[in-house]
Amino acid sequence: MQVFGLLGNPVGHSLSPPMHEAAYEVYDMDARYVTFEPAPEHLATAVEGAEALGISGLNVTIPFKQDVLSLVEPDDLAARIGAVNTVDFSGDTPTGHNTDADGARRALEEQGDASLDGATAVVVGAGGAGRAVAFALADAGSTVHVANRTVERATALAADVPGASGHGLDALTDLVPEADVLVNATSVGMEANESPVPAEALHGDLVVLDAVYSPLETRLLKEAAARGATTVDGAWMLLYQGAIAFERWTGRDAPIAEMNEALRTGLRGDR
Ligand code: NAP
Repeated sequence: MQVFGLLGNPVGHSLSPPMHEAAYEVYDMDARYVTFEPAPEHLATAVEGAEALGISGLNVTIPFKQDVLSLVEPDDLAARIGAVNTVDFSGDTPTGHNTDADGARRALEEQGDASLDGATAVVVGAGGAGRAVAFALADAGSTVHVANRTVERATALAADVPGASGHGLDALTDLVPEADVLVNATSVGMEANESPVPAEALHGDLVVLDAVYSPLETRLLKEAAARGATTVDGAWMLLYQGAIAFERWTGRDAPIAEMNEALRTGLRGDR
């Protein structure tokens, strides 16, 4: 039997197990996806132990995405982002990848029909998700503007991303009306019915992705849809990051429809 898993703390409510196991079922794979919550001081032992036990692949989530970087051989994108969310044990040494970045890109392109090459994109947030999204969009040919509550984090991220600029949240009033693509990569909208973007700045030519997936229909997405924008919810980003990890680990095409159904069933149960 092949074993895949998720390293994080906490991971009790993760929807990755049903999402990945839906894919194993499609291919009739003898495989399981399990969650692990090592104490931070045991992270290195956990990764070494996973390799020693023959675990095929691990996803990594909060709070370990940055710390795992030094325990594996990161690819170029993961090294530039400074975070790993997928470890592949199939080679001589474990390799580290960041599928949040391509997950966001595929969500925008495949569900939002966004043309990213030559687009002007605004990324709200400069934490882990913001970093991944900013690099993904710049790599896809977009000009990226990062806006963040703590402006120093936005300017630091912008300095790492070719052609990007960094701002405070107050700049959104001017940046969003000129943008083709808008991504919320903050946690705003998760706890309360709040949006990090002034509704008046939203418009019908925008493709808007919200990384927040609980609730699925955030205030930002509702206000964007009301102004005629194309909206993409955070479950699509979550789905594609998982699908890309599955494809890397197994060499098979991810069964998007079945993984999406399992994920959305789980999200409905969570509410
Ligand atoms: P993180 O590293 O902790 O970063 C949090 C970000 O949110 C920072 O930019 C922070 O700004 C901002 N923020 C937090 N509270 C705020 C507030 N009250 N007002 C304005 N900005 C605020 O977290 P993360 O890993 O990037 O995750 C961010 C969100 O993305 C979470 O909701 C997470 O669930 C989601 N996410 C989704 C996916 C997906 O696949 N859909 C993947 C990864 C993450 P400061 O820098 O000023 O603190």
